[in-house]
Amino acid sequence: MGRKRKRIVRTKPIPTLPTVFDCPICGTTNSINIDINRKIRTAVIFCGKCKIQTTKPVRPIEERVDVFGDWLDALVEESEQDQEPPISTEGSNITE
Ligand SMILES: [Zn+2]
Repeated sequence: MGRKRKRIVRTKPIPTLPTVFDCPICGTTNSINIDINRKIRTAVIFCGKCKIQTTKPVRPIEERVDVFGDWLDALVEESEQDQEPPISTEGSNITE
């Protein structure tokens, strides 16, 4: 953080992966920015609209789209846990 990276890229390669995403919290299109800091292996997910911000660890192979997908999964899990009280605690495996 802190260092400005402002490069004007004139010849843009065809983007293969999205870099901005729709916010699942406020529903705004292309409002989620994900900044991956590979040195500390952390991604910052930030919505420019509702200002939600979260950080999560990333693996070197992960791209923004992976980070976003993981975050979405976590949100879904959270909302599901809100609806039902957690039955099993961590460490106990469900057998059959
Ligand atoms: Zn938002």
